Amino acid sequence: MRMYDLIQKKKVGGELTPEEIRFLVDGYTAGRIPDEQMSAFAMAVYFRSMTAAETAALTDAMAHSGDMVDLSRFGTLSADKHSTGGVGDKTTLIVAPLAAALGCRVAKMSGRGLGHTGGTVDKLESIPGFRTVLEPEEFLSQVEKIGVAVVGQSGHLAPADKKLYALRDVTATVDSLPLIASSIMSKKLAAGAHSIVLDVKFGSGAFMKTLTDASALARAMVDIGRACGRNMTAVLTDMDRPLGYAIGNALEVAEAVEVLRGGGPQDLRAVSLELAAQMASLALGLSEEEARRRAEAALDGGAAWETFLRFVAAQGGDTAAVEDTARLPRAALTVPVTASADGYVVHMDTEAVGGAAVVLGAGRERKEDAIDPAAGIVLVKKPGDAVRAGETLAVLHTDDARRAADGEAAFRAAVTIGPEAPPASPLIAQILR
Ligand code: URA
Repeated sequence: MRMYDLIQKKKVGGELTPEEIRFLVDGYTAGRIPDEQMSAFAMAVYFRSMTAAETAALTDAMAHSGDMVDLSRFGTLSADKHSTGGVGDKTTLIVAPLAAALGCRVAKMSGRGLGHTGGTVDKLESIPGFRTVLEPEEFLSQVEKIGVAVVGQSGHLAPADKKLYALRDVTATVDSLPLIASSIMSKKLAAGAHSIVLDVKFGSGAFMKTLTDASALARAMVDIGRACGRNMTAVLTDMDRPLGYAIGNALEVAEAVEVLRGGGPQDLRAVSLELAAQMASLALGLSEEEARRRAEAALDGGAAWETFLRFVAAQGGDTAAVEDTARLPRAALTVPVTASADGYVVHMDTEAVGGAAVVLGAGRERKEDAIDPAAGIVLVKKPGDAVRAGETLAVLHTDDARRAADGEAAFRAAVTIGPEAPPASPLIAQILR
């Protein structure tokens, strides 16, 4: 087999066999196939796309290019969730212990924030003492004991995807649906869970800006997972506004704690309940209605909160800092941003709001940047809310006056105030099974 022939076949719209796809993934991972040939292949896929069978074969080959986490000791109870990324999306902090309280086994690998989106590992590390690196056996035995463990993604998970994603990043081939779907799903398959719930975001803060594009991505990922023998559901949720009110690591932990204690913002609670219920429905074989009923009972009755406390303690985190969130890292400066006119918040460019949080220190512009766990934004108004000139729209948290000034300018540019309230939009737009 020659890579040249595979590029040619894809270039003219042919369908590659699973053997051909395995040949190119294995060859590229091992360094036998050079970047220039893989770039040409990625561009051919960009223009010619891939069939469902090709996409599933690509995903499977990339998943098997490194470690495959073995969760077989949990039988069919292992369940994972994945969000395509957003602003203020702290659902994993709620969903993982909630699903565990329902009986799922949640052995989760999460990422750090990059660009305008946050990452669960950074959020957890804002809890003093919390360890996001565990030895494999410690990770699995914690899941056995308390139902949940969350660690940073191991360096040897789907190395083919790591290499290909970096190449796509510099060859303008990131935005290809089969390449995105196979990239995300290769890591999820390698992480081992039997049931996977995808939270696919759409809107100005999401990777996919429209519901149509998000829905096509969700369908492709569900089909890949099912072709590879996993139980799959995708929930399409609105990211045209931040989720909840808090953006930034310690601020988001505090808001997640509010929800775990039965309160918190309605939108965050609703998305978290739906994701946990979908995990329980798949892993425990419950009807969706029964799973939703049990999820609400576990959240309101304290079982999810108790599980969260055990999870934080097991990973070395200071439980006093989550029981009294005033003890989490706090910024030296809190700066209110006020409305310049009367009216309604018509829109928030959510990617730009995430960008403002990065400017304040809550995220990274480059992978190697340090973050400030206390930095971020707490919204006071959200799209649809009425405001009067001089009223507070949001409070910025940072340690640095220059960052505060730059963050304020970035935040203001992201918010549109107008005379009429925007039409209401659904928080959960579709569920694909
Ligand atoms: N996230 C991924 O992991 N891969 C992509 O290709 C796009 C987003």
